[in-house]
Amino acid sequence: MTTYSPGSRVWLEDSQEGWIPAEVASCTKASADTFTLVLTDGDGKETTVTGARDSLPHLRNPELLESADDLATLSHLNEPSILHAVQTRYAQRKIYTYSGIVLLAVNPFEAVPMYTPEIVQQYIGRTKGELEPHLFAIAEDAYAAMALDGKGQTIIVSGESGAGKTESAKLVMRFIAAPKSPRINSDMNSFVDGASQVEQQIQATNPILEAFGNAKTTRNDNSSRFGKYIQLLFDTNRQIVGARVRTYLLERSRLSYQTQTERNYHIFYQLCAGLPADELKELGLDADYSKFHYLNQGGPSSTELSDRDKFHAMRDALGIVGIDAAKQTSIFQLLAALLHLGNIGVTQTRSDAVIEDDDPSMLHAMQYLGVDATEFKKWTIKKQIITRSDKIVTTLTAPQAVGVRDSIARFVYACLFEWLVTAVNESLTGKYGDAASRAETYVGVLDIYGFEHFDKNSFEQFCINYANEKLQHEFNTYVFKLAQEDYVKEKINWTFIDFDDNQPAIDLMEGKLGILALLDEESRLPLGSDASFLQKLNTQLDKPANKAVYKMPKFANAAFTIAHYALDVTYAVDGFLEKNRDTVPEEHLTLLTSSNNAFLREVLDTALHRVSAEAADPPSPGGVVSKIPDPGRTSLAGTTGRGSSVKKPTLGSIFKGSLGTLMDMLRMTNVHYIRCLKPNQHKMAWEFSPLQVLAQLRAAGVLETIRISTAGYPSRWTFEDFARRYYILIHWREGPPLIKREQFKRLCVLVVQKAAIDKSRYQMGETKLFLRTGVLATLENLRSAK
Ligand code: ATP
Ligand code: MG
Repeated sequence: MTTYSPGSRVWLEDSQEGWIPAEVASCTKASADTFTLVLTDGDGKETTVTGARDSLPHLRNPELLESADDLATLSHLNEPSILHAVQTRYAQRKIYTYSGIVLLAVNPFEAVPMYTPEIVQQYIGRTKGELEPHLFAIAEDAYAAMALDGKGQTIIVSGESGAGKTESAKLVMRFIAAPKSPRINSDMNSFVDGASQVEQQIQATNPILEAFGNAKTTRNDNSSRFGKYIQLLFDTNRQIVGARVRTYLLERSRLSYQTQTERNYHIFYQLCAGLPADELKELGLDADYSKFHYLNQGGPSSTELSDRDKFHAMRDALGIVGIDAAKQTSIFQLLAALLHLGNIGVTQTRSDAVIEDDDPSMLHAMQYLGVDATEFKKWTIKKQIITRSDKIVTTLTAPQAVGVRDSIARFVYACLFEWLVTAVNESLTGKYGDAASRAETYVGVLDIYGFEHFDKNSFEQFCINYANEKLQHEFNTYVFKLAQEDYVKEKINWTFIDFDDNQPAIDLMEGKLGILALLDEESRLPLGSDASFLQKLNTQLDKPANKAVYKMPKFANAAFTIAHYALDVTYAVDGFLEKNRDTVPEEHLTLLTSSNNAFLREVLDTALHRVSAEAADPPSPGGVVSKIPDPGRTSLAGTTGRGSSVKKPTLGSIFKGSLGTLMDMLRMTNVHYIRCLKPNQHKMAWEFSPLQVLAQLRAAGVLETIRISTAGYPSRWTFEDFARRYYILIHWREGPPLIKREQFKRLCVLVVQKAAIDKSRYQMGETKLFLRTGVLATLENLRSAK
């Protein structure tokens, strides 16, 4: 219950700042259940508000609590107070704040001296509350929990693009993988030697995966275009023996198309900038990348990205994971082939696509792909439809032929990415799995794309938001379970409070007759289209039962809206079907798989084999690291199943499968959460835009969690801490006594009685005192009045 009196500190809503601090000058009853408040802000300006109790301004916390390092200890848990605490701390260069079990990390956008070896040492062996909030505290917490009973751990790093997920994930991994002296209990030298090789290999995964899977976007110069789960593997002595990487949903469209100021994957620019002139020439490449259609659509980009240095670091990293110079050359040849593919000239006479027989780009591309140019040309400008009785060959238009060309480039690149992940894993688990077979347990780090909503949202956003919806569900369940466990352990009276579950939105997306199922159904029809997919959605889903989660947008055609936990998002159906099918024509697939480039065959074999095996048989925990559950086979490279026995899996169904396995695995682990926040859109150091951060706090479910916890007893104090802080509220005839341990609980009772706290507002547990929201503020006010 909120109470106002003259002097109450409140938050006044403001369209620019979000909220500004103000104080109540007077409070009068306006009617039976409305009040009128006169407020003065810092500039002395008066504002009058009238309304029912719960629509009046939020209360501000006592000053002492305003920048608490754990938001869960705030007495008034409301949006403005949370935001203010994070903002105040950021202004003090404190980028980390706890919010219960979650660590909030605000991007500093400049190098901060917070990750030195000395600081690493400080956090080793310390529990979470002992030092300032930090990524390392979460990492240590996870390590310690794993070391204690061998239970698997997962650290989930989330946040919007550019918020700092990948940087945070790398720091966490470095902390956990680094040899730490207090943990060395055997022969020091051999441990350091052994660990440093593993550590090196783990570190080497970053430049490789970032070169092939990251790109410059409008929001982040080094944006990850795939999700990643890395398990660091430990043996019975809790020493690191290897690692395993899983990746999810690499963005493929980027390979053939980039919007203004964006780039293709870093690797292509690195190749052009870093390869010696003679090797470039050999591949028909040019240091001037703007000659390639796949690289120049975003316009000229600055060279600050130091592609040349990155190229060398990437090459060294390939060496470290055992990809030798010959293999590297093969990789570069494939990449060159893709760039040439993009430059193939397609023209049109009347309605027929035309490619010249001697098109130099085509000849180059086919040379490196090891594919016959005549055959390639034929099946790029023509299409074959096989009916029961006939084979009909028709010609394509130029845009259609370009579409075929680009689909091949995307397909080969996706397979190459898949192959790389496999190669990296071979190195990390030991070539024959020997290192990994010693693994008993693990700490996993999940670096996954955050919730996305743009002006135009497509299939990619749908998948990303689907993943986030699932993760949010796990999070809610977990937070709620933890809160409940504490109540049970402390034997307090507690009735289960239902919270806004997001299960209906999840069912809408993945249920039996949900969006993904309908999309798959439509994708399998030869004449399926985006329009009839939408029609299906509207007939099946626009029902009263789905009213809360599914909507037909009023102002957008060819679109549908999902009410996500974070926000309503409208998806344009245009392109859904094609992206979900993600096919290359059968004839091209045959050409590629029978290529005379042995490396290409190996790449396709690795990627296709995995995916068709996965479609036929859901991933099992098997493999070399059999003791450890597998977070789902890798992503979504080839989606073209071979042979007729395997039903072609769609991108959506593969994603659903790998997410499902990931969720099963998360449930078997202890989870730790890091939510990264982007303080402003211009990548400016120490600039804090409150409204933008607020939107992210909402989208990350931070405020939702707080709502869940305010339903119960959000403040928990041990009897000792509470007694020590508030015993002065009791009137001591002969001055305050020395407190003895046995008296803590009794003192707590005296304090709450003395402060006249209503019995419904607190409970005494076995070792802790549980307080409803607002009680702490009352006590703080009494304390400062003393
Ligand atoms: P995306 O979803 O696009 O992959 P992301 O959340 O992974 O984004 P990062 O690439 O980790 O974002 O971070 C973006 C940039 O922010 C980094 O390139 C770096 O400049 C800066 N940054 C992030 N974290 C830190 C940090 N702890 N210290 C200094 N700078 C940082
Ligand atoms: Mg990233």
